[in-house]
Amino acid sequence: MHIGTPSRTWLPARWQVWSLPRPARAFVLVVDVAAVAAAVLAARSWPASGQWVLAGWLAGCAVIHLHASHAIERIRRDQSHSPYVDLCSVWIFAGVLTLPPLLELGLIAVIYGHRWVLVNRFDAHRPPHRTVFTAATLALSATAATTVLHAAGHPALAGSGTRPGWSDVLVIVAAAAVQWTVNTVLVAVVIHCTTTVKHAGEALGSRSDNLLEVSQLALGVFVALALWWWPQAALLMIIPVLALHQCVLLDQLRLAARTDHRTGLLHAIAWQDQAKAELARVQAEHGQVAVLMIDLDWFKTINDTHGHLVGDEVLLKVAKAITTSVRRGDSVGRYGGEEFAVLLPGVDEAETRDIAERIRTRIHTLSLSDPSGHPIHLTATLGGAVYPDLPEESIEGLLRAADAALYAGKTAGRNRVALAAP
Ligand code: GH3
Ligand code: MG
Ligand code: MG
Repeated sequence: MHIGTPSRTWLPARWQVWSLPRPARAFVLVVDVAAVAAAVLAARSWPASGQWVLAGWLAGCAVIHLHASHAIERIRRDQSHSPYVDLCSVWIFAGVLTLPPLLELGLIAVIYGHRWVLVNRFDAHRPPHRTVFTAATLALSATAATTVLHAAGHPALAGSGTRPGWSDVLVIVAAAAVQWTVNTVLVAVVIHCTTTVKHAGEALGSRSDNLLEVSQLALGVFVALALWWWPQAALLMIIPVLALHQCVLLDQLRLAARTDHRTGLLHAIAWQDQAKAELARVQAEHGQVAVLMIDLDWFKTINDTHGHLVGDEVLLKVAKAITTSVRRGDSVGRYGGEEFAVLLPGVDEAETRDIAERIRTRIHTLSLSDPSGHPIHLTATLGGAVYPDLPEESIEGLLRAADAALYAGKTAGRNRVALAAP
């Protein structure tokens, strides 16, 4: 037993699934029950012995992958505070293409049973219902993909002797698209019900998560090909899958090392590094760049009136308001407690003022309230400095000038934009 973990958590009455918000709990249970129903339906046709052998190969590859990536997965898990893409879909999609439904669902049970024993069990914050739900979403999405293959007559696959052609590629792409869509939507719904994510788009995962998911499906096709023609070669696919796993971890760590965890923005040092590199590029090309400093007005009063936790939520919303007000390619960082810095490459004074006004208005019009529904009025003061109008040769110099302008804006009454005079 682990310290801090309630004992006898296996008792149904103590399952953490009951503490989920009611819509999420209902949804999770429906998905779990639907997956069990899919397994019961799949059990109506019993697989042939050759199919058990294929399933054995796939389960073997998946288990070797899980063991070899055990350490990587533990670090990813500790680093990630939200759901993230694991790399089991390679084997699961290969199973969709090669196995009958019952063995495919058995493969998913083996993979997630194994994961639970190997990784999740040691993580007190990750209750079993999460692993069960992940396995259930994959079981349903794999069943949907299998249905597509069957509807298309499962053409020329499964070692029928005919060489697959373009139409088979289309069928596989359709099956992969259905698997990805069903899985993504099921996960997005539960994220939407359990977190503060308010836009469906945010729950659909980042572009790199989706690319990772799609790459796994592509690798799954090659594992399936190996299984049909030369099963031993499927073992070789473990190597690129592990390499992908390692690269994903490195990316995750690199991102975490540059991120302010409260807001998801760049932290001050990462922002400054990026700003220095951008300024050097601008100087070499004789271009323009502007720096904005944003300081929330009377933020201490918001903390004092509504509490620090509400203050933290406000900071998160302000961070989103700023990132959605700037252009793609502008760098936004959290500079201090309730101070933010923005780097705007390629802008003159008028454009800087426009963007700064957009940010100011966006913050001013944020609809904020505390947990008891009391409205929170928030404004911000922005100071800016534009290079080379202001012939400061360093980011520190530009920041100092923007900060002085910000201070002038504060003393002039707050909720305004002030640019440093050239
Ligand atoms: P003004 O800038 O308009 O002069 O007034 P202010 O009250 O905002 O003053 P200042 O910028 O000096 O105050 C910063 C406050 O921000 C102090 C601190 O309570 C709060 N703060 C800093 N970091 C955090 C944080 O991470 N979370 C929360 N909730 N509050 C923070
Ligand atoms: Mg401040
Ligand atoms: Mg302030």
